[in-house]
Order: sequence, then C-alpha cells, then structure tokens
Amino acid sequence: MNRYDVRSEFQGRYTTDRASTRYLAVHHAAAVYPGARGIDHVRSAATYHVESRGWPGIAYHVCLAEETRGGPIARYDTSDLETRRFHVGDMNTHTLGVCCLTDFGNRIPEAKWIEALAEVLRELGERYPDAEIVGHQEIVADRSCPGERWPEWKPTLLERVGDGAPAADPRNGAAEPRVLGEPVQPNEPNEPAGNSEAAPAVGTISPLLVVPRSTAERCSRYMLSRPTGEYTEYDVRAVIVPAYFEICGRAGLNPLLAISQMIHETGNLTSWWSQRPRRNPAGLGVTGEVRREDPGDPDRWVFHAERGEHRAGLSFPSWDEHAIPAHVGRLLAYAAPSTAALTGAQRELIDTALRARPLPDRLRGTAPTLEGLAGSWAVPGLQTGGGREISYAESIATIASRIVGGG
Ligand SMILES: [Zn+2]
Repeated sequence: MNRYDVRSEFQGRYTTDRASTRYLAVHHAAAVYPGARGIDHVRSAATYHVESRGWPGIAYHVCLAEETRGGPIARYDTSDLETRRFHVGDMNTHTLGVCCLTDFGNRIPEAKWIEALAEVLRELGERYPDAEIVGHQEIVADRSCPGERWPEWKPTLLERVGDGAPAADPRNGAAEPRVLGEPVQPNEPNEPAGNSEAAPAVGTISPLLVVPRSTAERCSRYMLSRPTGEYTEYDVRAVIVPAYFEICGRAGLNPLLAISQMIHETGNLTSWWSQRPRRNPAGLGVTGEVRREDPGDPDRWVFHAERGEHRAGLSFPSWDEHAIPAHVGRLLAYAAPSTAALTGAQRELIDTALRARPLPDRLRGTAPTLEGLAGSWAVPGLQTGGGREISYAESIATIASRIVGGG
C-alpha cells in the first residue's frame, strides 16, 4: 500500500494531546466527493471539516482513499498520532481515528478496504497494544459509521489484523500466525492446572460430532474479550455458553464448533438478528427477504421498527430453552449420517429444531464435517476477506482455533 506523510498539510491547529488511547476507531466518510481521489479526496474531507464544521483541521489521524477511481487504496498520515482530534464526540480524548474515505452504506466493504484497514490497525496496535479496535458507532451512540453492517464485517477485519501480526513472543502464550488447517500448537502457560486439555487443530474438516473440545470458560473468555451487543457478561458466561455445552452434550455434538458458528453468524452477538427479542443464534430462517406490507406470519417475520419493514427470519423467546436447541438440533440434522443410529435425545432435538424451521431431506446428513456446511447452511458459502475468498467452514474453523488457542 502506498503511504504518504501529509501531516504538514493536514495537521491543522490541533494542539492538545489525548489523555489516553483506549480505542482505535474505524470510520467511513459517508460522504463521497464525486471525482475526488487520492490526496484530493483527503483535501475535500479536510475542507469540509474546517470550513463547514469550523474544526481546527481534518478530524482523523489516518485516512485511506482510492488513489485512482476503483484503484488500490493508499494511506495518508494526516496527523501526529498523539493529537486529540474531533471524530468521536466526548471520546476524542481517548480515541485515535482512522477513516476510509468512501461510503460503506449498507454493504460489506470490498477486500481491498479490509486489507488496507487491517494493515493500518495492525501497525497502530503495535504502538498502542492496549487499545481496542471499535467502529465509531460502538462508542458514540446513534451513528451508522462505518456503515450499517459494521457488526458483520468487524470480525473479519479483526481476524485479518491478527492474521498478519508478527510472531508473538511465545512466553505470552499468543498464537503464532499460521495457515488454516495446520496444527495449532497449544501454548498456554497461564492456563490453570487441571484445565489444560489437548488442543488439536481445528481444520475445516473437523468432524462436527467429535474433537476438538474446548472449555466453557475459554469460550466465554473469547466472547467477552470482544463487544457482545446488548448481552452482558452474565448472559454469556452463565446462560448462553453453558446452554451450548449442555445441549451439545445431549446431542453428541461439539460445543466449540456450534459456538464458533454462532459467533460467526451473529458477529459475536452484535448482529440485529441476535439481539432481544429475536435471539436468533445463527441466521435461522433469515433469507434477506424484506416486505413493506405485514406478511401476517409472526412466527417467520419480524418488524424492524426503525426501517418500517418486515424481515424474514425466526425469533426465539429464550436462549437456553428455544434458540440454542433450535440451532444445535439443526446442526445435528446436518451432521447425523443416518437417523437410525440416533439416540432418543438426539431425535428429540432434531424434531424440535425442524419444527421451528424444516430442513429438506436432501440436506440431512450432508455436513458430517464443517466443510459440508458451506453451500448448504450458508449459501453460497464464500465471503471475501483479506483479498481472497474465505469459505464458511474456514471462517468458523478460524474462530474455533482462536478459542482453543486462547486468542
Ligand atoms: Zn465516523
């Protein structure tokens, strides 16, 4: 990525340093300046901030912009990193801002944006290791920045930031960068005695029905080290994670993979569908279909008040008694090679789940491994991340590996 030090032009009259760097905030400009690219785009944003808003200079510390129309992204260092700039209201004094000069609107950013952001955030993360990566909307209420679908693509971005990180000091027990499918070496000197179990690799052919396993504590810790939407530590640690362990135990399914799928599908419980009163753990019945008129089927449609539209998808009255059994039972229906070999408890779970949403016979037993879920649970099963196609199975396996690895 081309990088330009343009601080002398854009720093402006900001003179106060931040008190701390608690957050690295990701922004998008929302406004698109037609025709402006590269440094001209940065100038357009700066002019708006200074002339229309009356600020002492451009709001952000670092800007990313296409150098040419549709071309690669370049980095513009617009300010000394320590200054307190105006980009997140009363959190300015604790937050550094990186802005993508584009409008993500209601879409998932193209891989080149995610890759460029990851590169910048990785470097900033080395300088400010305690800072948390957040979207503008996470620390200042009622803002759609950086785009409405930030909760969906944030996990991909964080993975890319982590994937490219330099080899960590093994004494810290941090995971080494690795190629998916290669064994993950357990390396957790801080793990309490008695809680350390063998941590085999989580590849995309991990059988859904067997190893690897992880502890509930490790799953909770992973989830709670990230934003969890409206859900509290109690919800995660005392309700949701234990219910997955209990119900997966009944099903003979691996709780680590079911939880990883839930994390992937809900953006670690931050997605709109996963919030109360919907509690949808894995996109169950969510087809993307939207209607203005009430379809008159409250079991399968939910009204989105802010948008004034009805969205297709299932809601559940509780996590432990409804949402998680429906998720796990459905996963089991995909995984179980034949119904004849199932226990009574397993059949009951499948029946409950398929009552909530039927599963065509042709899909039953198609996913004894994670790979089998791609293209059946998730269509088309591919998403773009880090400049390449990442399969659905790979996304889930990556999360599972991180939980096992304590990351
Ligand atoms: Zn913003």
